[in-house]
Amino acid sequence: MSNFNTGTKCVQGGYQPGNGEPRQIPIVQSTTFKYNTSEDMGKLFDLEANGYFYTRLQNPTNDFVAAKIAELEGGTAAMLTSSGQAASFYSVFNIASCGDHVVSSSSIYGGTYNLFAVTMKRMGIDFTFVSPDCTEEELNAAFRPNTKAVFGETIANPALTVLDIEKFAKAAHAHGVPLIIDNTFATPVNCRPMEWGADIVIHSTTKYMDGHGAGVGGCIVDSGKFDWTKYPEKFPGLCTPDDSYHGVTYTERFGLEGAYITKATAQLMRDFGSIQSPQNAFLLNLGLESLHVRMKRHCENGQAVAEYLSKDPRVTWVRYCGLPGDPYYDLGQKYLPNGSCGVVSFGVKGGRAAAEAFMKELKIAAIATHVADARTCCLHPASATHRQMNDDELKAAGVSPDLVRFSCGLEDAADLIADIDQALTAALK
Ligand SMILES: *Cc1c(COP(=O)(O)O)cnc(C)c1O
Repeated sequence: MSNFNTGTKCVQGGYQPGNGEPRQIPIVQSTTFKYNTSEDMGKLFDLEANGYFYTRLQNPTNDFVAAKIAELEGGTAAMLTSSGQAASFYSVFNIASCGDHVVSSSSIYGGTYNLFAVTMKRMGIDFTFVSPDCTEEELNAAFRPNTKAVFGETIANPALTVLDIEKFAKAAHAHGVPLIIDNTFATPVNCRPMEWGADIVIHSTTKYMDGHGAGVGGCIVDSGKFDWTKYPEKFPGLCTPDDSYHGVTYTERFGLEGAYITKATAQLMRDFGSIQSPQNAFLLNLGLESLHVRMKRHCENGQAVAEYLSKDPRVTWVRYCGLPGDPYYDLGQKYLPNGSCGVVSFGVKGGRAAAEAFMKELKIAAIATHVADARTCCLHPASATHRQMNDDELKAAGVSPDLVRFSCGLEDAADLIADIDQALTAALK
């Protein structure tokens, strides 16, 4: 399907049924797979033959859906994970281990920040966080001899910064390491980071890809373009024999197009088992079939709400890269010319208390720890996800006490705006 446009890939990518086969992707609800001989089975365990043997590592339903996402992102191989967090973890841990170092944008999802700065640090992997707006000199200065990857988010959740992907790709490649991009908020409908130099793309499919708040999940896609064999001393896991698979060398056996994902499946899925359930993969595929149609509407609603808020004197500030004057407007025009996402953040006059009062009055937008859902939802990070922080700490994290994260769903924009208007009126009485 590689010559088709994005919408066609959303609907039909990844699965082409043969004569008389199911039109919809079958849900292979089976933990295991049957073989005639132990010899057949042994070949699978040695990665000598292709096939399924246990759903903790791979399942056909997942692979159809992963293949669709690989086509959408322009990658060569992909895998589904049980959550976005698992995708972030695997994407880095597949090439970095104890004693290694990673450069990451500081403007990333809070859960990813915690995974990197606390949990993976405990595993012996060091992270240096750089501002997404840093100069090339500052970015280059963050690298060390043991740096193994660079990480960033196309549109950061919840800061809504837009990453200069080319700048980060250039620095990563100058230091012989891949750029990993979390493309959750933009989705491949609005941005394909691999076209700008990213080597690996990950997703929390929980968000727009699923799009209906139905299933938690993640995905990792490899571009197949990063040449690990140029730096065998840096990436021994990909370039030297794996004793746990009878000495297979991933880059030799699976080529650049397959080495990274095969290693992640064979080692990380085998040992950690964070696979997506086939049932969730099926639901994810239903979401993907309409992703291109839904993203357009999410963006139209985001733009309309952002424009309305920017003119309302009861709102102190608005952040949305589609608004002329937004600090990320120019980067948005470059990387997201067809729209960014449906998430808008803003401050209500009167600060923290006013933000909470405003949200309580909303009738359509629900208060939920979620974004990128068909149903509009909103969150006050200062009293929810960032609740432990005092006002000074919130400021350092780029989350002001008055910040409302408003995720525009698929409803009518006029109703969303009327809801915001009545809630502001009621809250600021
Ligand atoms: C939600 C989110 C994650 C984590 O995904 P889960 O599916 O909740 O584990 C990672 N990155 C971004 C940008 C997110 O919004």
